Amino acid sequence: SELRQRKTLHIEAQQQDSDPIEEGPHAVPIIVAGPDHSFQLDEDALKKVLLRDEIKDRYVVVISVAGAFRHGKSFLLDFFLRYMNSKYVHKQNSSEWMGSDQAPLDGFSWRGGSERDTTGILMWSEVFLTELATGEKVAILLLDTQGTWDSKSTVKECATIFALSTMISSVQIYNLSTNIQEDDLQHLQLFTEYGRLALADSGKTPFQRLQFLVRDWRFPYEANYGAVGGSQILEKRLEVNDHQHSELQSLRKHIRSCFSEIACFLMPHPGIRVATSPTFDGRLAEIDQEFKDNLKVLVPMILSPENLVLKKINGEKVKVRDFVQYCKSYMQIYEG
Ligand code: GDP
Ligand code: MG
Repeated sequence: SELRQRKTLHIEAQQQDSDPIEEGPHAVPIIVAGPDHSFQLDEDALKKVLLRDEIKDRYVVVISVAGAFRHGKSFLLDFFLRYMNSKYVHKQNSSEWMGSDQAPLDGFSWRGGSERDTTGILMWSEVFLTELATGEKVAILLLDTQGTWDSKSTVKECATIFALSTMISSVQIYNLSTNIQEDDLQHLQLFTEYGRLALADSGKTPFQRLQFLVRDWRFPYEANYGAVGGSQILEKRLEVNDHQHSELQSLRKHIRSCFSEIACFLMPHPGIRVATSPTFDGRLAEIDQEFKDNLKVLVPMILSPENLVLKKINGEKVKVRDFVQYCKSYMQIYEG
């Protein structure tokens, strides 16, 4: 945790300092909120991560985690980092990538605490390289999003962040607490309006995969933890029928039309230490077994080579070098 603190301080120092010192992997703010509630792309920061010879000609996979504040988004992303950093990645049934029982969990800063709660999008500075079964070489980018949803203005900010992260990702993980509520679907409508704007004339589905992730699911007897139970719940929530008000029907049709694939995963509660202990440092020893068992399924479902989803824009695969340009033009759409 001292290391985490140092890292956070260092990142803050970097933001103020135009001459950053070389350091280990860290979160890079790429889209940042200004004082007037507008957002800016830090193009230099993005280019610094992406425009390197060994990656710029690869196709890109962009995994984002979005949703309300303090529901374990960054915590989950740190398990994504463990998976990507593990040499056991290729062993499908191995869970050794999860690490040792007593190791603190680090990476994207989770827990909040002393950290400022700024709204924005962070990219992990380490780009992961892998090869698909087709032989295609790809680069994997991980995005964390931050926002508080605590007032009218911040709700708009969060909607913008969700919209922007959806536009630039190939997998958007919509992290929700306890269930998929009508509110959550309505928020999606708001977020995905931008998608319609961005890709109005292409005739293609604007986004690739939307992965609902329900945390602290409490009804395993109604629908089991994992992807199968998740799809049961999702089908119920997205069902369109004549008894519904027409607004509810069109909301559901709109959501379906925006994504080429929609899935849902139900996660159990991680246990009391994770949820409430002020001294919990992320070590596996203090996480409920059921949560870990489901993490072992969820993480490869998103990140194993056969499950990776390439970023497409207007139906075309995107290379890292062009990705920067797309981010710029998406920001302009949002500003306009
Ligand atoms: P974020 O704001 O969504 O990024 O949330 P964080 O990743 O910073 O986590 C916020 C708090 O939630 C931390 O104290 C974690 O220990 C805790 N946490 C992580 N995962 C879960 C979960 O699945 N359920 C619950 N109840 N708490 C979690
Ligand atoms: Mg976070």
